[in-house]
Amino acid sequence: MVADNQSALDAAHLEAIFTSIQGEGIYIGSPQLFVRFSGCNLKCQYCDTPEALVPHPMTRVENVPFKRNFKLITNPVKIEDLTREVINLTNAFPQIHSVALTGGEPLVHAGFFKNFLPTLKEKKLRFFLETNGTLPQQLKKVIGMLDIISMDIKIPSAVGKAVDWKQTEEFLGLAKTKDVYTKIVVTGREKTEELTRARKIIARIDKNIPLVLQPLTPVKKHRSKDFSYPSLTSLLEIQRLFRQELTDVRIIPQVHKLMDWM
Ligand code: SF4
Repeated sequence: MVADNQSALDAAHLEAIFTSIQGEGIYIGSPQLFVRFSGCNLKCQYCDTPEALVPHPMTRVENVPFKRNFKLITNPVKIEDLTREVINLTNAFPQIHSVALTGGEPLVHAGFFKNFLPTLKEKKLRFFLETNGTLPQQLKKVIGMLDIISMDIKIPSAVGKAVDWKQTEEFLGLAKTKDVYTKIVVTGREKTEELTRARKIIARIDKNIPLVLQPLTPVKKHRSKDFSYPSLTSLLEIQRLFRQELTDVRIIPQVHKLMDWM
């Protein structure tokens, strides 16, 4: 699923535009503006954003940063409307660290990004791509406009389908020209040979690229699929495996799930 027809260059289906604290990876705790795009080329067993996998008639747009009050605008959202909403929210909260392009898989909309991002780059906004790391040809189209890349490395036993490792390596080879870190969602189902393969890919590109091991967050929707969760002992063992070749391997759970009361 890669959106590249003419209308998809001028407008995109979004799920939401909102401010929040980054809850994953090495920029955890940074205030960001999230632009969540609809659609994804994968369907991981553990997906925690199923609402972003399919298009909706309307997009939720936060009215005031961090106030959690939303208006609805019609999908698909035109470039000029999205640009205006991003500028309004970032002007209202100037200490925003960066604009997170997330999903779903945002690179499904790479054609749209080519038209959407340049105006906002002129405003000195930084762009933070949250990606599943499987669409290198799409990344090529937009990488010049990105600042930070959070790249998932998908493990076949965890996502429930085959992974094209060549694409993973090609993607990371492109992403390393930016501020990139890698992330593996650890479900407890991963096989040692798969993890070793991922380690070798990162080491071949650059052993100093940070890797975040993110244990799957126990939530009801996963429990219903009979998920197991990794123990601290198994996480430390996986960290040890990656540290055989990589210099920066951290275990960091999602923290935004703890912020629901705020
Ligand atoms: S790549 Fe991300 S958004 Fe897409 S199905 Fe997997 S977890 Fe969900």
